[in-house]
Amino acid sequence: MRDKELYRKILGIDEPWQVKDVELDPAKGEVRVLLEHGAGRLQCPECGALCPGYDTRPRRWRHLDTCQFRTILVVRVPRVECPAHGVRQVSVPWAEEGSAFTALFEALVIDWLQEASHSAVARQLGLGWDAVAGIMSRAVRRGLARRESRLPPRLGVDEVSFRKGQDYVTVVHDAERRIVVHVAEGRTRECLDTFYKSFPEAERTAVESVTMDMWDAYIVSTEQLIPGAERKIAFDKFHVAQHLSKAVDQVRRQENRALLAQGDERLKGTKFLWLRHPDHFHDDRWTLFEPLRTSTLRTARAWAIKTLAMELWHYRRRGWAKKAWLRWYSWAIRSRLEPIKKVARMIKRHLEGIVTAVVRGITNARAEGLNAKIQWIKATARGFRNPENYRNAIYFHLGGLDLYPAALTR
Ligand SMILES: [Zn+2]
Repeated sequence: MRDKELYRKILGIDEPWQVKDVELDPAKGEVRVLLEHGAGRLQCPECGALCPGYDTRPRRWRHLDTCQFRTILVVRVPRVECPAHGVRQVSVPWAEEGSAFTALFEALVIDWLQEASHSAVARQLGLGWDAVAGIMSRAVRRGLARRESRLPPRLGVDEVSFRKGQDYVTVVHDAERRIVVHVAEGRTRECLDTFYKSFPEAERTAVESVTMDMWDAYIVSTEQLIPGAERKIAFDKFHVAQHLSKAVDQVRRQENRALLAQGDERLKGTKFLWLRHPDHFHDDRWTLFEPLRTSTLRTARAWAIKTLAMELWHYRRRGWAKKAWLRWYSWAIRSRLEPIKKVARMIKRHLEGIVTAVVRGITNARAEGLNAKIQWIKATARGFRNPENYRNAIYFHLGGLDLYPAALTR
């Protein structure tokens, strides 16, 4: 009798629901709390009309553990026959429709998922991987349904690889609030089109900037759907640096091969010296790097060209910025370094957008932060078998969403 009252209080069970019995099963490490709907009036879950009872259905929900005992609510849930909606199961106050877990249990999983990897949470709470994915997916669905739908004025678009460069997702973030506002499978024009088209033209016109990589699919989509795009598209320092770093590395690899063939090992094992910003070097690195940097190696030249490009981001006037970048281009294009020339041409084709990023001081440092978090999500979620789960995880961690079950706030 006592424990019935205890569980009624712990579970917050109110009329018309009653705790009928509490069964302790030490062998299974389980507490089963049997609930029933007392003799009372039944409501249609859809319209709230009082209806005659139809039958009952057995259901189970996992609840928060009681002293490490897995706690299960076992309930015969009545169904009503509503004249308007037919036979429906009445709603229960402790869980959302379609979930095998109580709202409090889901909230616990949501809290854990903020701190630990998907599989750690599954292991810790004795849940299957899919059960955790289901809770995450429901949380995201709730969050997306609740959020205010407005097109942020400053956007950033990125492609993120999923499964080692095989598949991509397109991630759009709000550059002011630092949250992800859209995730789509793939990196095609349609991925972005769908997002833009879900907002009225007035909001699209109000967009101030769209920061992105020099990627045609995103450029074309933005040009088509964001009025005034030619002065809003910005190619930021982060993405430009990525292309140039890759080019420096290609030059180094080619040159290293050629040098090794002559028994010269100067470039061996130096990959990260060239990729790291020298400001972050410790003294011992400098002693290694300084003779390389000042050498006549092709890699040193490529590095110098990249480093200069990284210094051209402080201009405030379009005219000056453009002149500086064109000067840089004429040096880069005469460098006789094919990978560098390739990026130089790309930069020249996209010069207006680079200049826009320069004069507006768009650094995209925020996108770098988001990217790092997305890499963490990828690393902690090796079990993501499909892009849908990956998408959910990005929204879950970076969407700034209200994820908790509504049953908790009722
Ligand atoms: Zn009804």
